[in-house]
Amino acid sequence: MNMSKEDMGFAFPVDLTNCDREPIHIPSCIQTHGVILALQESDLTILQVSDNTIDFFGLHPEELLNQPLSILLEPEQIDFFVDCLNQEDIQIVNPIEITINISHVNNVFDAIVHRWNQIVIIELEPHNYEKNHVYFRFYYLVKLAVGKLQSAKFVTEVSHIIAQEVRRITGFDRVMVYRFDEDWNGIVIAEDKQDHLPSYLDLHYPASDIPKQARELYRQNWLRIIPDVDYQPSAIVPILNPLTNQPLDLSKSVLRSVSPIHIEYMHNMGIKASMSISLIKNNELWGLIACHHQTPKYIPYEIRNACEFLGQVTSLELATKEDSENSESKIQVKSNLAKLIEYMSVDKKFINGLINKQPNLLHLVNAHSAAICFNNELYLIGNTPTKEDIQELLNWIHKNISEDSFYTNSLSKFYPEAEKYKDIASGLIVISISKSQNKYVLWFRPEVIQTVNWGGNPHKAVEVTQNGSLRLSPRKSFELWKEVVRLTSLPWKSYEINAALELRSAIISMVVRKADELAKLNIELERSNKELDAFAYIASHDLKEPLRGIHNYSNFLIEDYGEILDEEGKNKLRTLIRLTIRMEDLIDSLLQFSRLGRADMSMQQTDLNSVVHRILDLLRARIEETGVRIRIPKPLPTVYCDRIQIGEVFSNLITNAIKYNDKADRWVEIGYIENSEPLKFYIRDNGIGIREKHLEIIFRIFKRLHGPSKYGGGTGAGLTIAKKIVERHEGQIWVESTYGEGSTFYFTLQKPN
Ligand code: ADP
Repeated sequence: MNMSKEDMGFAFPVDLTNCDREPIHIPSCIQTHGVILALQESDLTILQVSDNTIDFFGLHPEELLNQPLSILLEPEQIDFFVDCLNQEDIQIVNPIEITINISHVNNVFDAIVHRWNQIVIIELEPHNYEKNHVYFRFYYLVKLAVGKLQSAKFVTEVSHIIAQEVRRITGFDRVMVYRFDEDWNGIVIAEDKQDHLPSYLDLHYPASDIPKQARELYRQNWLRIIPDVDYQPSAIVPILNPLTNQPLDLSKSVLRSVSPIHIEYMHNMGIKASMSISLIKNNELWGLIACHHQTPKYIPYEIRNACEFLGQVTSLELATKEDSENSESKIQVKSNLAKLIEYMSVDKKFINGLINKQPNLLHLVNAHSAAICFNNELYLIGNTPTKEDIQELLNWIHKNISEDSFYTNSLSKFYPEAEKYKDIASGLIVISISKSQNKYVLWFRPEVIQTVNWGGNPHKAVEVTQNGSLRLSPRKSFELWKEVVRLTSLPWKSYEINAALELRSAIISMVVRKADELAKLNIELERSNKELDAFAYIASHDLKEPLRGIHNYSNFLIEDYGEILDEEGKNKLRTLIRLTIRMEDLIDSLLQFSRLGRADMSMQQTDLNSVVHRILDLLRARIEETGVRIRIPKPLPTVYCDRIQIGEVFSNLITNAIKYNDKADRWVEIGYIENSEPLKFYIRDNGIGIREKHLEIIFRIFKRLHGPSKYGGGTGAGLTIAKKIVERHEGQIWVESTYGEGSTFYFTLQKPN
């Protein structure tokens, strides 16, 4: 698509690969609805002209070049012109109405003047309207439009009003408001058009549609008009300015020739004339009011002036509306944050506060879905990637992100695996609550294409086949834009990221506070446990002495007064002695139990085989007496424990297994489950069994299921003591049983390191 100067009036051959560098500000030619003169400021000698002067003045360029301006203007016109040049702001005087006598007829022109270096550039367009009439209409139209703009509340409303008003004032077929995003891609946010034309509302365009240097010219000039795309460009002669030896810089020229790429664009869109008015915020291009017409259309300077003025008013209105919309969103986010923190602190499990109420985590940063990873559990909100995918993402985050937070609107650029769930999570914010404990909160946003709300169908938009080139039709533009935004989500706003960070601090202080509370409770619990143990110890210790007294005195009574007492009296004394013995047993058990809580643990690697065999030795007499068979299917392991205490656990459980058995053929099996983690030990018997309702209460102190003398008696403290010992080893104890058939007592112990 190379274009020579002759073809398009351009000295720089452009194609799609270099259009970003195309020097569109020095095309060295102009559009032909006017004529351009470059004058030396000091004496107003004509240095350059466009080669269409014959059409406007009846004079050839060579008749004008190096001539004084007086060749065209009467002396009083020149005085007036010089006066204008002496104004502080030359823009304000534009347009200067100039009359040129051509073949004895006075022709009126609008002269638009600006300076470039020491050169005065005058652009003349025929003045073909009645000034007063237009001025009156201009004032009326502008006033009406400004009133409407000021009453609008939102950016979209302002945009719709300006599209309507500009169309009403100018009569273009279509007027659109086009807005740029951070990456200079565009979207049509408002439109007013002839009914029969297809709608471009909501269409997206890639940044390349309006290249950088074109945007810069839009930023410098409020208005740009192309009345007829099929114009034959008029070259500036000579090409190089004799003073600067450079081509004229036409950045500020209203007649500047149009880039061939842009001409192609207009052809492809099927339009013959266009006008654009810049929308500028903080000295940056915010958007454009783009006007299209299907036939050539000239807009006189005064009307353009009105449009330019409306563009400036709209820019101000948009800026304030956008800022207030932004601050409203910011306030909304702040209030969401405050509510979330409140929910978190009220709920016992703070994660519920983040998930189950409204607003929830999603509203905080306007995400589509979120996940919380806490204590190795994943809590999900909305349509998230699968748990496995999130787990893998977390592993990646854990390895690769050292900061407390990370965000991106294109996750797959960093983590290519994310491409498979791009329509759920192309955008990510993650905050770490604790890296070492794997605690994170993640928010997701889908790929932007998935979220686009199509007002119009891009595939049905006008498509003009001209020379087989369709590149810049809306449809092609949409395809290009889709490429640009592929795998990208809407960007996270800075106040959303800040909100996520603030939530992080809130969660951390909450977690720390909860941990503090827990630690306090633990200390409290430990203290009261110790007090209880101390109390039980002192009480039982002190009780023993008077009990011993009762016992002794009862014995004395029988011994010394046995003859005086009758048989019933003696029996009562014997019962009293038996009861004191039982009471002493109970007190001893209590003492043993309370001592357990006070004693330090003496942890050591312990071979459980020797422990168990020693116990079996001690129980030998009873084993022989009952004929019970003891089975140990495989040797027991070595564990890290308090040897004496764990010995007591085995002793209690084995004794019970022998004791609570009424079968003729009795057996007890002692073993452990291989590869269990923690290690699981068991003592199994074929004894009397335990009813299901008693499975738990037998671990309570002094709880027995039988009369004092049945099954060899007992105090009911053995299982309580075993439980306490196992728990002190951070293990668990429980029983499984079938009543009448037998029981299995299990307990766990940590594996040795
Ligand atoms: P004690 O044996 O001194 O009564 P324990 O605390 O050791 O106290 O046991 C509490 C109760 O649990 C026992 O009285 C008995 O009823 C029941 N029990 C314990 N072990 C077994 C077992 N292996 N089979 C059936 N019942 C049992």
